[in-house]
Amino acid sequence: MKITRVSAIPLRYPMEKPIWDAQHFIPARTAVLVQIETDSGLTGVGESACFGGPWETTATLVEKEIAPYYVGQDPFLVEKLWTATYQGTIQHGRRGAVIAALSGVDIAVWDLIGKAMGRPLYQVLGAFTDSVPAYASGGFYSEGKGASELASEVAGYLKQGFTAAKIKLGGLAPAADLDRVAAVRSAIGPDVPLMVDANSNWDVPTALKMVRALEAFDVAWVEEPVAPDDIEGCARVAAATWLPIAGFEQETTRFGFKPFILAQALQIVQPDVIWAGGITECRRIAALASAWNLACVPHVFSSGVCLAANLHFIASIPNGRWLEHDCNPNPLRLELIGGAIALGKDGRVALPQGPGLGVELDAGIVQRYRLA
Ligand SMILES: [Mg+2]
Repeated sequence: MKITRVSAIPLRYPMEKPIWDAQHFIPARTAVLVQIETDSGLTGVGESACFGGPWETTATLVEKEIAPYYVGQDPFLVEKLWTATYQGTIQHGRRGAVIAALSGVDIAVWDLIGKAMGRPLYQVLGAFTDSVPAYASGGFYSEGKGASELASEVAGYLKQGFTAAKIKLGGLAPAADLDRVAAVRSAIGPDVPLMVDANSNWDVPTALKMVRALEAFDVAWVEEPVAPDDIEGCARVAAATWLPIAGFEQETTRFGFKPFILAQALQIVQPDVIWAGGITECRRIAALASAWNLACVPHVFSSGVCLAANLHFIASIPNGRWLEHDCNPNPLRLELIGGAIALGKDGRVALPQGPGLGVELDAGIVQRYRLA
């Protein structure tokens, strides 16, 4: 089997009601899917993260910069192709958009391998589990949403069957943000795991003040308390609290995560397979984390392809804990993949059993939301 074509499929869903976190205003959800065609007739699908920049940049990188390393090659040469691409683009890449572009191609290659073998990807990688507990990821800031509306939102996720939830912090002054946590904790009771995410918006003194105050609410983790370049600052925060510190969705490759792990800045590492280097690189990051007895709980906040790819990754590692399940309205998530992924009554998500990622793109959704 030889790869004949690598192309990007950009999609955009304009939100009816914008949301925001501590750093990002989100009026629309954009996803760059990657499709690989082969001479066998099999096609693979992946996704490349395009957070923080124009989708055209990511699509161009996929088609012009990464594709030449893969076209004409056997998709089973995963490590060789990944390494050749990383080395070949290193002056231009190493981190950021080039690694995100590579990520989507790597995922599509793994989807192809699963299809060629007739097995779900998590089994091809080496299964650890066939279902993963999901936490509801929501609790964004939005017009007219105060602490009590936020508490109702989170209580609604539990009614849907989620057994844990995450909310945003860092967008308001500390006292107002702590009111949000207090309202949610009182609505859901003391036993439901509640994660909080500051999206890197605190400086170290604010983060220290917040983590100490958050201990009273027994939050499950504090995500991205400080800037992703402040490794020492993050380590100071981690050392000052018994709460687990999680991060950084903004970090990529094993080389990026290594100094955080060595500095004991994180208890939970959060690479995203569409962003940090694909399934190939995220498995290395998870292995690195496991050597320090750390959990690997990916960031998952894009299309249904992102959700499926991260789910297969998590189910293939021994130190995964949770699947992040974005709960904001977005037809590019579950509708795009035609219901291949659903929350079970036990709060867990079962792995799709079709070959590869086990998802088929819904042609109607693709057509409706496709850009250019
Ligand atoms: Mg986050």
